[in-house]
Amino acid sequence: MIVLTRGFVIAIDGPAGAGKSTIAKKAAAALGFAYIDTGAMYRSVTWKLLQTGEPFSEGLAGRLAREIRISFRPEGARNRVFVDETEVTDAIRSMPVTKLVSRVAAVPAVREAMVDQQRRMGREGNVVLDGRDIGTVVFPDSPCKIYLTASVEERARRRGKELEAKGEAVDYKLLQADIAARDKQDMERDVSPLKQADDAVYLDTSDLSIDEVTGTILRLAGERRPQA
Ligand code: C5P
Repeated sequence: MIVLTRGFVIAIDGPAGAGKSTIAKKAAAALGFAYIDTGAMYRSVTWKLLQTGEPFSEGLAGRLAREIRISFRPEGARNRVFVDETEVTDAIRSMPVTKLVSRVAAVPAVREAMVDQQRRMGREGNVVLDGRDIGTVVFPDSPCKIYLTASVEERARRRGKELEAKGEAVDYKLLQADIAARDKQDMERDVSPLKQADDAVYLDTSDLSIDEVTGTILRLAGERRPQA
């Protein structure tokens, strides 16, 4: 499928906790590009579903995904997320949302609605998107794709440190099990499973610093950016 874009799209995919959003945000800021956190979009649909108080069903998830209005408002290092006019930046990172999001994201009608929105947002200009299917499905023609990963232990360690910084108690074994379960769900679903695009650059960040990874992506972006 050819997706016509006006700008340069950088596609960053990979499993939970690989550092995608931190890196994507930094790379976007350095390049002066917009940043779209597609995981936040699936989380927003999940948040809205939980708000209804109704049990999960594919029909309800699909309907909400079609109706929802999600917007991003970057503010310094923060990327604030709004559903309609309600700020959900922190709420979408809660445990109930994190536990349910992969089920919601596996619903074909949800993916269709989100991918439509992502293409609309990405088509307009230079943009960095991070997610699970950006290089394989959303922008398969992007000349700059990165598959970012790290060991499960390292990903749990990073997530745990973030939670501890917020004053939360962390059970590392449980965190690791949750991340592994989400990886499995995301990799084994029928629609747009998480996988590395054939032409993506594989980057294991287990032993790399944020600056090293960002630097690698910026170099790659410089090489792959079409000449005006
Ligand atoms: O990136 P983050 O961990 O916030 O994503 C939350 C969930 O949203 C993922 O575990 C996955 O189930 C789903 N997702 C997806 N496709 C994307 C981005 C996220 O299915 N492009």
